[in-house]
Amino acid sequence: MTGTLEVRRVSKRFSKVDAVREVSFSLPEGETVALVGHNGAGKTTLMKLMLGLIRPTSGSITVLGDDPAAGEFRARRQLGYLPENVSFNGALTGQETLAFYARLKRQSMRAVPPLLDRVGLTHAANRRVGTYSKGMRQRLGLAQALLGEPRVLLLDEPTTGLDPALRQSFYEIIEELRSHGATVLLSSHALTELEERASRVVIMNRGIKVADGTLDELRRIAQLPTRLRLKFSAPGIPDIPKWLRPIGDLRQVDRNMVEVNVAPEQKIDVLRQAVGLGSPIDDLDVIPPSLDELYAHFLLTQETAR
Ligand code: ATP
Repeated sequence: MTGTLEVRRVSKRFSKVDAVREVSFSLPEGETVALVGHNGAGKTTLMKLMLGLIRPTSGSITVLGDDPAAGEFRARRQLGYLPENVSFNGALTGQETLAFYARLKRQSMRAVPPLLDRVGLTHAANRRVGTYSKGMRQRLGLAQALLGEPRVLLLDEPTTGLDPALRQSFYEIIEELRSHGATVLLSSHALTELEERASRVVIMNRGIKVADGTLDELRRIAQLPTRLRLKFSAPGIPDIPKWLRPIGDLRQVDRNMVEVNVAPEQKIDVLRQAVGLGSPIDDLDVIPPSLDELYAHFLLTQETAR
C-alpha cells in the first residue's frame, strides 16, 4: 500500500552540505508523525522537498500521488504548510491576511472568520499584523495552514511562541484534522510535548534517518531500562529487599522512596515481587523511557557507529 506521502531514498545536497541522505519513509492518512532532530538535522529541507520548493538531488517524493516539484502539482491545494519563521505583511490586518491566502488557495471567504475564531484571533481580526505579538503571528500562520481543511499538513516547529493554552488547543485542532483522515507531519524540539501527541516519531541526525516508529516500537528497539519508583512504609528503606539490590542503579529519592532502573526482561519479575505478599512496598510508579531518553539513545548509537 502506498502512503499519502512517500519519500524514497531521497538525498539533497547544497553545494558542500549533505542536508538529507538517502531518507525513505511512507506516511499513511490519519497519522500524526513527529520529525525530530538537532539543529541542521535536515527537517526543514525534508519539508521543502515535500512541498516541491526544492528538488531532490536523488530519490523521489510523491504527495497524494503527485510529484510536488512537477509543474502541475495537483495536490498543492490539499497541502497546508506552516513555515518555521512565519512572516506576513505587517500593513495588512489578520482578516485581510487570511483572506489573501484564501484567495490563493481558491477557498471561500466564508472560511476566514471561523478560522480566526478557531485560533483565538477574532478579537484582533481588524488589527494590523505589524502590531501582533509573536504568538499571535504564529496563530495566524496556523490559521493560514488550516485553510481548506488540507489532507496533508506540514508544520515546522508549530508550537514555538505559543502559550500553554494555545498549545493545547493547537493539538486539539490537529487531532480533529487527523481523525478526519489528514496526514500531519510536524517538526519540533519539544519532545515531552510530542510524546502523547504523535503516533509515530522519525528521528533525524545530520541528514540521516536514525529511527522511525511508534514510541512502543522505539522502546522495544532501544531496550532502555524502565524506571520503577517504589514507596516503602517507613522505616522501610534500610530494609530494601535483597531482590532489588542486585539489579543495581538504585537511587534514594527521599526517606520512603527509591528509584530503580530495571531492564525490560526483568521488569515483570520485579513488579511481581513488589506487589507480592509480605512486600514492604506501599506504592509504585512505572516510568517507561521517555522520548527524550530514546532520542538521546538513538543519536548516540548513530554517532558511535560512525
Ligand atoms: P533546525 O532545527 O535548526 O531548523 P533543520 O533540521 O530544519 O534545523 P535544515 O534547515 O534542513 O535543518 O538544514 C540542514 C542542513 O542543510 C544544514 O546544515 C543547513 O545549513 C543546510 N542548508 C539548508 N538549506 C540550505 C541552503 N539553501 N543552502 C546551503 N545549505 C543549506
